[in-house]
Amino acid sequence: MTQVKLRFAPSPTGYLHIGGLRTALFNYLYARHHGGHFILRIEDTDRTRYVPDALENLLRVLQWAGLENDEGPVLGGASITEKGENGPYIQSHRHEQGLYRHYAEQLIHQGQAYYCFCTKERLDEVRDAMKSRGETPRYDGHCRNLSPEEVKRHLEAGEEYVIRMKLPRDTNVTFHDAIKGDITFNTDELDDQVLIKSDGYPTYHFAVVVDDHLMGVTHIVRGEEWISSTPKHVLLYQNFGWEQPMYVHLPTVLGEDHKKLSKRNGDAAVEQYIEKGYLPEALINYIALLGWSPKGNEEILSREELIKAFDFDRISSTGGIFDIKKLNWMNGEYIKKLSVEKVVEAMRPFLEQAGLVDASTDEERLRLAAELYQNRIEYFAEVPDIMRHLFVDAKDVVYDDEAKEALATSEAQELATCLAEKVKAQDALTPEFTNGVVKEIQKEKGIKGKALWFPIRAAVVGSTSGPDFGKTLLILGRDEVLRRLEVAKKFAK
Ligand code: GLU
Repeated sequence: MTQVKLRFAPSPTGYLHIGGLRTALFNYLYARHHGGHFILRIEDTDRTRYVPDALENLLRVLQWAGLENDEGPVLGGASITEKGENGPYIQSHRHEQGLYRHYAEQLIHQGQAYYCFCTKERLDEVRDAMKSRGETPRYDGHCRNLSPEEVKRHLEAGEEYVIRMKLPRDTNVTFHDAIKGDITFNTDELDDQVLIKSDGYPTYHFAVVVDDHLMGVTHIVRGEEWISSTPKHVLLYQNFGWEQPMYVHLPTVLGEDHKKLSKRNGDAAVEQYIEKGYLPEALINYIALLGWSPKGNEEILSREELIKAFDFDRISSTGGIFDIKKLNWMNGEYIKKLSVEKVVEAMRPFLEQAGLVDASTDEERLRLAAELYQNRIEYFAEVPDIMRHLFVDAKDVVYDDEAKEALATSEAQELATCLAEKVKAQDALTPEFTNGVVKEIQKEKGIKGKALWFPIRAAVVGSTSGPDFGKTLLILGRDEVLRRLEVAKKFAK
């Protein structure tokens, strides 16, 4: 049996769309499920869209996501290398070897492609005329039947040209899609596709077919926006007499407004999720469920479980909606399972960036803060907001309205003073002290519940609710707690 081979073939545009990551993931999962190869191929033949550093950025994102390829470019320290026997895997490098021209010439010899010398001005005129007649603009076939002599004359005159595919007239092309079933197009609906552009580079449509064949790709998993291109690809396979791969077109990833996920309706770039401190395992888990579902009800699935369960038959034929709340919930579930050390490691850069901690901050304070809030963090970029009150100076604590109200009465102020006296009597705060101190005040003052807890907590952190108060005191330390209790006095009415 031939080895299963799948590829992710992005055009490096400078960032990776969530939908692109999903395409990469589905290719990866299917390849791993069947013990096959996952290839990364870079489709960069559109030189007008060249973006410096785009490839390196793409490789970093895929590495972050853990989608390791068996063939294609890989990051090796500071440089990019390639692995696999079918390289190069970057189309511009393949172009430099003259590979595509060779196959284009084969089609010309077979009468299935032709030189086209039409100028841009002529093409524009033809297109405008068709539009004004209410027709779909397309190439009018002006150069389809040039004689070999005419072609020679144009070439010798050094005229610019493209090479076009010579589509048979009025012919049905049918291909099977694993999700959508049989799809038929008539060639009269299609254009004589350019295969080689005037700059000598192949178009996507040509390079994709040549490379998928030469690299032994067995399944093409890609976004459904490519369906209308597929009949041209199928005809190219037929022209060359090559075996056609299986097609799997994935439903588009939609935003909550049911339109394609884009900058306008959400964060569409994977890089934005990396920057916001999402965990790769969680994002991958969530994205796997965008348009695919496993058999059971289980939603939290490890990489191994995804690989085991993944198949094409449970991909839905309609778009998957990107639900940020669900992703946040899922990311939170993954954060709950992290070790405290990992939580500290992940939250530190966000706190540093917010200017709340620095290299001199006691690691133990961060540890305690991580323990306190681990179950509430959904993604790490929100950590500064969640933990600000633990790391700011007393003068910068923000007291919310409820806290101010809780501190207004003389009874409330008396409770705060009582806490201040007890803290002052300590050399340094210990867990024994911080765990028991509010109970002590309760006994002494005979006040309990909200009447006790609201003012005390409000005085120290600026709000009336929050997690374990004893740990909060420990994180702040003796002197800072005293400074805050001093500040809280100003809310007395
Ligand atoms: N280079 C195409 C893209 O950017 C790949 C389409 C395909 O997978 O055939 O999406």
